[in-house]
Amino acid sequence: MALNLVFLGPPGAGKGTQAKQFAAARGIPHVSTGDMLREALAAGTELGLRAKAVMEQGRLVGDDIIIGVVRERLSRPDARPGFVLDGFPRTVPQAEALDTIVAGRDPLVIVDIEVPDEELVRRLTSRRVCGQCGANAPVPAPGEPVPTACGRCGGALTQRADDREDVIRERLRVYGRDTFPLVEYYSGRSTFRRVDGAQPAERVASDLAAAVASAAAAAAR
Ligand code: AMP
Repeated sequence: MALNLVFLGPPGAGKGTQAKQFAAARGIPHVSTGDMLREALAAGTELGLRAKAVMEQGRLVGDDIIIGVVRERLSRPDARPGFVLDGFPRTVPQAEALDTIVAGRDPLVIVDIEVPDEELVRRLTSRRVCGQCGANAPVPAPGEPVPTACGRCGGALTQRADDREDVIRERLRVYGRDTFPLVEYYSGRSTFRRVDGAQPAERVASDLAAAVASAAAAAAR
């Protein structure tokens, strides 16, 4: 059975880190719409240029644009055994489009990673990304200094343009308004699970693996 996963959760919940690890461990693609847009931006493509201003303001790129990007990505052969979607869907119309895109494939398994707002703001304001290798630096514990050099390659750490506090507040507001309704959209399905994302990353990873296993078993029934 293909593992067709959706990781839901607010910005800063650790979705990206968990999705990347999970996908690598299972040998299926990690499909992050945020990463795809940032790559398009860096490459100066038309998609990147269209998304730039919206992303910098913490708003959402138009449904039609992003749905087209995901439809194309999931049609590639490497996504046949499964995929981990990270950052998509983010609106109910995107979720409806996804149901159409995966019609005839194995059921979606949806995991919602839950973290309280104040912890999200703390994590996002101290999040740093390596300009050289692209890795996220571990978020410092409360009261600890924010790191300046990448622990993996030594490169200089920078802050994402949308991780400034005013933009973070806007992203959380947009999340509550546009993306949180997806929890209701999916919560009635037998393949929907919730995970406590406020725990240490390793605990989140093991809870997530257990949640996916139980949801996949439900999907196979
Ligand atoms: P992320 O890395 O997932 O936090 O995404 C960064 C930014 O990319 C978001 O704040 C949006 O501006 C844009 N973006 C990513 N995924 C989507 C999506 N599914 N729909 C609309 N905009 C998106």
